[in-house]
Amino acid sequence: MDVDEQNPTSSPQTVAHWPACPVTDPKERPGDQFYEEITLPHWNHESYPHTGVTVHVSNTFGLSFKADNVPPNIIILSLDSTFFLAHCHKLLTSSNNNFGCLISPTYGAVCNNVDVDALELCLPESASVLNLLLCTVYGFTCEQYLPPFESLLDALEALKKYGFSLPRYLLPGLPLYNAFLDHVPLHPLETYAIAAENDLEDLAVVSSSYTLDSTVHSIPDGPIPRIGFIYFQRLYKLHDTRMKTLRGLFNVELLPHTAKPYCSPWNRHVTSKAFLFAGMQIYYNATPGMPGLDIVRTMADLSSALSCPDCKQSVDTRTAQIVRDWVSLKRTV
Ligand SMILES: [Zn+2]
Repeated sequence: MDVDEQNPTSSPQTVAHWPACPVTDPKERPGDQFYEEITLPHWNHESYPHTGVTVHVSNTFGLSFKADNVPPNIIILSLDSTFFLAHCHKLLTSSNNNFGCLISPTYGAVCNNVDVDALELCLPESASVLNLLLCTVYGFTCEQYLPPFESLLDALEALKKYGFSLPRYLLPGLPLYNAFLDHVPLHPLETYAIAAENDLEDLAVVSSSYTLDSTVHSIPDGPIPRIGFIYFQRLYKLHDTRMKTLRGLFNVELLPHTAKPYCSPWNRHVTSKAFLFAGMQIYYNATPGMPGLDIVRTMADLSSALSCPDCKQSVDTRTAQIVRDWVSLKRTV
């Protein structure tokens, strides 16, 4: 079936134009786990110019793939020559632009023979990106493919291009969101920028906690325009609040213990000042995400150097309270 008959306003490539698509060496392509090799005579499409050669077909979106008990009625060929068989009704239902204006909204052909009846599209996205896109649209998990961060970014662009709403698919518990979570610790700022650009609240919240390992002042200029004023203000407020709170926690005088014969007032004064000094050292070297254990270690050094058991007890008690307050402080925007 000719695509142009279905949608005169679009001019997609069809499989009749496959020779224009670069065919890469399968051995050089990553992600072998999501496609398998089959020999073309099974399809034997009249417009296919490579009859008799081995091609790559998605494991999930293959010839036997049914959705809503309906066989596939669209063949999608990736830029790097992998086939995906899908369902127009699934793509049209979720897309707000008729899959990039490539599928007519009136298309409803029942595909009795995928060799003859299927709609055919040759798309400029790689197989790994199309696999992520289709998994997302169909609600299939994609974590097992361990998609690299760059593929996820490309998949987001493809989803937007083909009319799929990112806020709908990047929700906690959904496959694409879960795939992103694996990369957030290594790419917190980039993920936060993506969330800000697309108003993805849940992703913004979870990624913001991972930005705390560096100060807000060290954020490079590059992502700031993408983050935008509102989301940057939220991030700045998070970092600023945590640092001001940390300073306040250490800016409280150590409560002196009652007079004891083995600890002079001068000794108690020195202990109090040493505690303040150690606290300021921690503060000036801290990031907004500093682990509470760092406070424990530094103050333990001070405590172990004290000869008075009551001064030691004061330092330990105050340290424990500071750590409790610090680790319970809000870590997300
Ligand atoms: Zn003492």
